[in-house]
Order: sequence, then structure tokens, then C-alpha cells
Amino acid sequence: MNPEDQTTPAGAETAGAGNGAAPRVGPSPGEVAAAAERPPPPAHPTGRAIALRDVDAYYGDAHAIKSATMDYAPNQVTAMIGPSGSGKSTLVRCINRMHEEIPGARVEGEILLDDVDVNAAGVDVVAVRRAIGMVFQKPNPFPTLSIYDNVAAGVRLSGMKGINMRERVEQSLRSAALWEEVKDRLGQPGIGLSGGQQQRLCIARTIAVEPEVILMDEPCSALDPIATLKIEELIHELKQRYTIVIVTHNMQQAARVADTTAFMLDGAIVEHAPTRKIFSTPDDARTEEYVTGKFG
Ligand code: ADP
Repeated sequence: MNPEDQTTPAGAETAGAGNGAAPRVGPSPGEVAAAAERPPPPAHPTGRAIALRDVDAYYGDAHAIKSATMDYAPNQVTAMIGPSGSGKSTLVRCINRMHEEIPGARVEGEILLDDVDVNAAGVDVVAVRRAIGMVFQKPNPFPTLSIYDNVAAGVRLSGMKGINMRERVEQSLRSAALWEEVKDRLGQPGIGLSGGQQQRLCIARTIAVEPEVILMDEPCSALDPIATLKIEELIHELKQRYTIVIVTHNMQQAARVADTTAFMLDGAIVEHAPTRKIFSTPDDARTEEYVTGKFG
């Protein structure tokens, strides 16, 4: 039986059998070699570029992100790796302006979506979050809503008009590789799905508003290995249309899905390079120590 067919709540899945419990060692030589064989980015990208320029982020007086400067290329998958507390989640939450929701939190520097500074005066935060969607660690479908309404909710909440909702829901579920599994039970509760299905439902909800960038913060850490694999396959498909940033503490996962990888330490970006380079010949000794499991 396909474990994804079980209607197990997310939290009840084999705890940490996927991303969460992977031994903290670097990828195998095969995984590193595969990372080198990725096709080049499309000539006419449909996702958008993100550029960070001297970004600092604070929680009150605590300086969580220190002068981060890096580029996320369109239609590429960029992994953010680094020890717990190094600032990976904070950095991605700055990109779609979720950091500012925390009392006392603030951001300085420029975060450019193509050439628009997402923090500039007059930029609508709702528009920023529509363009830059986010998928979280723990699948978070709306508990009282059906599968259909969970996907439609993103569109409704964003205030988009003139949408053929039925078509949009179907397209989004197809893009999230979930349609075939749920097409006959769209009216049933979203939380009745397995954890992996719930995460793909959340991806469908994110896609439904047609973002240009998708941020994923440890999207597989609550999932079992099979559900993790499905999400990783989906990421390969999604990058044809979107720019993807994925936070992961699982280096094998970074090697499997990411075109480039950035290593963070103590709030700073130490190094950002093609994934194969990060795991084979990094420039910085701290990156090498981390990817070879010497600390973290
Ligand atoms: P990572 O994602 O790499 O584990 P985080 O971005 O979660 O790192 O954390 C970076 C730093 O910011 C840590 O020192 C953490 O304790 C702190 N931090 C994270 N979230 C909050 C918060 N809501 N309030 C205060 N400090 C926080």
C-alpha cells in the first residue's frame, strides 16, 4: 500500500523518518555528481530574481541577520543550509516580509524582487506575499475547510477577481501533483489527508495565487521518506515556473534538489555557490567543516 494513501494526521507520521531524522552528514558522491548534472536555467525564465543587498534583521536588540548579500536566480532552486539558529528561517521570512509581523522585529537593507524593493514605501505587503508564496515546516491546511476550499482560500484571501475558481483549483492541485489522489473527494476536509498530501495541498494553495517565488522552510521535516521524495520531485517540476528557495538542515536533500546552495553561520552568509561546489570544494573552511559533519 502506498503510505501516502493513509489518512494519518501529519503529526502522527513516522516522526523524523524523513528530513528530520537524516543523519547530519554530507551527501554521497553520487548525489554530489547528480547535483553537477542539472540542466542550465531556461533562456526565458518565468520566475523572478531576488537580490539581497546588505540585509540586517533584528529581534529587538538581537542581531539575527548580519549584512546578508546574495542573489537568487530565476527558475533555480537555492538551498539555505547551516546549523540551527544560524538565521535561515529569519532570512527567508524577511524575503516575503513575514519577519515584520513579530513584535520588535525589524529589517534593514534592500530586498529586491527583480528591481522592486519589497520594503519600499508604497509597496503593498499583500502583493509582496502573493508574489512570494511560502510553505512551512509543518503542513498547515485550514482545519475547518475542505480540500477544494483550502486551495480556493488562497485565491479568495488575496482578493483576486475574475477567476474561474474550479479551473484554478484543479490546475493548482495538478501542479502540486495531488489531483489524481483527491479529485474524487474534493469536499472532504483537508486535514483528513496524510501529512505528505497535506503539504502538497499547502503547495497547491500557494500556487493557486500564481506567485513568482516560492519559499519553503524545511518543507519535509515533518514527513516520512516517501512523502519527502514526492515533494522533492515536485520541486524539480515547480522550478520550471517558479524561483524556489528552500531551507533545509538535510544536506542530502540540498544536494538532491538545489542548483545552488548557501551556507549560513551565526546570521551571516558564509558562502553561496553551485551545490556541487559547496559539497566538494567549498572556498571557506567553515563550510567544509559543516558539510563534512565536524560541527552543527
Ligand atoms: P535557523 O532557521 O537557522 O534555525 P532562525 O532564523 O530560526 O535560525 O534563528 C536565528 C536567530 O534568531 C536565533 O538566535 C534565534 O534564537 C533567533 N530567533 C528566531 N526567532 C525568534 C523570535 N521569534 N524572537 C526572538 N528571536 C528569534
